[in-house]
Amino acid sequence: MIISELLEPLDLATLGIDLEKGWQTAAGTQEPLTRVLLIGGALADYRRLGRMLSGMEAHNYHLLWCEQYDDNSLGEINSGHYDAILLDCQHQPDKAMRLLTQLVEIGCQQPIVSLTDNSASVVAQRAMRNGSTDYLGMDTTDRYVLERCLGYAIEKNATDKKISQLNLYDPLTGIANRLMFQRNMARAIELAKTQQISLALLLINLDDFKRINQSFGTGAGDRLVTMMAQRLARCVRQSDAVARIGGDEFALVLEDSQTNEDIALVAQKVIDVLSAPCTLNGQAVIVSCSIGVATYPDSGDSVDGLIKYANMAMLEAKRQRGSQCCFYHEETSKAAVRRMNMEKDMRLALRRNEFELFYQPRVEIASGDAAGMEALIRWRHPVHGLVSPDEFIPMAEETGLIVPIGYWVLQQACKDMLILDQSGHQNLEVAVNLSFKQLQDDMFVDTATRIIQKSGIDASRLEFELTETAIMSNYQQACDGMMALSKLGVTFSLDDFGTGFSSFAHIQQLPISALKVDRSFIENVVKSNDDGIIVKAMINLAHSLRLHVVAEGAETLEQVQFLWQNHCDQIQGFYFSEAVTVNQFIELMDRRATATM
Ligand code: C2E
Ligand code: CA
Ligand code: CA
Repeated sequence: MIISELLEPLDLATLGIDLEKGWQTAAGTQEPLTRVLLIGGALADYRRLGRMLSGMEAHNYHLLWCEQYDDNSLGEINSGHYDAILLDCQHQPDKAMRLLTQLVEIGCQQPIVSLTDNSASVVAQRAMRNGSTDYLGMDTTDRYVLERCLGYAIEKNATDKKISQLNLYDPLTGIANRLMFQRNMARAIELAKTQQISLALLLINLDDFKRINQSFGTGAGDRLVTMMAQRLARCVRQSDAVARIGGDEFALVLEDSQTNEDIALVAQKVIDVLSAPCTLNGQAVIVSCSIGVATYPDSGDSVDGLIKYANMAMLEAKRQRGSQCCFYHEETSKAAVRRMNMEKDMRLALRRNEFELFYQPRVEIASGDAAGMEALIRWRHPVHGLVSPDEFIPMAEETGLIVPIGYWVLQQACKDMLILDQSGHQNLEVAVNLSFKQLQDDMFVDTATRIIQKSGIDASRLEFELTETAIMSNYQQACDGMMALSKLGVTFSLDDFGTGFSSFAHIQQLPISALKVDRSFIENVVKSNDDGIIVKAMINLAHSLRLHVVAEGAETLEQVQFLWQNHCDQIQGFYFSEAVTVNQFIELMDRRATATM
């Protein structure tokens, strides 16, 4: 292929252009503003066009000529060296059309103006159909028409580029959007197929993003997402490997990924980078993320399949506790199907009366008698049998079903208190677990008050157990609700104490009368010196704040002795009893009464 430059008068010899040797440009010419490449045509056309363009006063053009329609040089034509291409279609229209099609196929970045004999020619229409930006009938072309046509083509091309940029990039963060990501993924999968290599898709979802938006406002939420996108982009070598595919969701494609260990290392790096502290509205915030991974070819071989599986794995990571990475495997899929069905069934469970309330005694260490009990819900599923609350409560929280279920628990606990009273075991206290979602229900205080008052039980026999996390998820709302209910006489305890991050300054302001030391500390209280020291410290701390201490999950005599020696007030655990039905509870109490008579 030969590229020539026109200087008037054209003198090939003085320019040193060797028509056989290929690409050339004249050295030393001043860099012009607009570089136009003519492809095909005869020397006479080249000269004529060159003269027209060099006579332009307002604009500096530089015309180069490539005589052959040479498809070996597509890359060079598309290299970005030229601002516009004039494709001669007068002399060899078929060759010109073939080249045009090829240029369009490789995504040519330059505007292409096809030169035809006249404006009405069939070739002009073919050129437009095949992707030409515009065409020019040479019979009527003068320098003004030529300049107007080139100017229009260059401008239209720039606008088109901007529009496709908008369609493929996320306007907030500037990184690739979902559409671009899907295209890149499809290309990456094709490449992996032909090269027989694997690739990994990481779906990255920010944890608790909704809460950030609620607490700091959506403007701050947007700033956070932008910050996270920038951090992610810095983690990867290739800028388009990372995309924003949802409000707080990013995707990262690792091409030619090696082992699962390598992928896990990248995921860990992402978690570390994203969870570095950032400042929102002047406040330091730490945002973690959950990552789901699906790999080609192990997890699937289509874009949609990999997204679906990576999403399942991401939800699994969230369910576990967030801030971690899960790989998709078949079990994830089975568990997801079971969960989906469970969720469907749970919606009917209340109406079908499938929930049951069990009770576990809280034993007063000093007397050895049950002072009360904790109400623990069970679901008797028609197919799966007794389902653990650890499985269905998180699901009920996600779906909001915990709100009506919670009311049922409260109502049932009040009813069972009356049954206990009638059986002769009066004045027992009952503790009911409250989920953070229940506290966020605006009707909670009113509805709970109505249920308690309607039941006729003394409200001071009722305690609500709340975790630190539940209180801190919306401190003000929790505080207001607790204050209102405590006026009725209801008390509160801090559940799973030691596992949350609440500050004592906050806790002290709340109407809390007991701490429940989490089972994980009691488990090793005898075996581990550290846990022993921690539990002693917790008991002392609680007493100095005039709070009762309840130890959860005591299973052995040694644990009970340790707690007794260290002045814990109450113990709840398998050592005394598991959670049982109200009738079994009455039997337990009866037996104890007979034994101590
Ligand atoms: P939780 O509030 O920490 O309840 C104590 C859990 O520890 C109960 O599990 C109880 O059976 C178990 N446990 C008690 N003593 C021992 C022991 O000595 N050893 C062992 N290994 N475990 C012991 P359960 O009944 O499976 O409940 C699990 C969780 O489900 C509860 O943890 C609570 O967070 C939630 N939950 C249960 N019922 C309700 C409810 O009515 N409403 C709400 N919102 N959550 C509930
Ligand atoms: Ca509890
Ligand atoms: Ca607990």
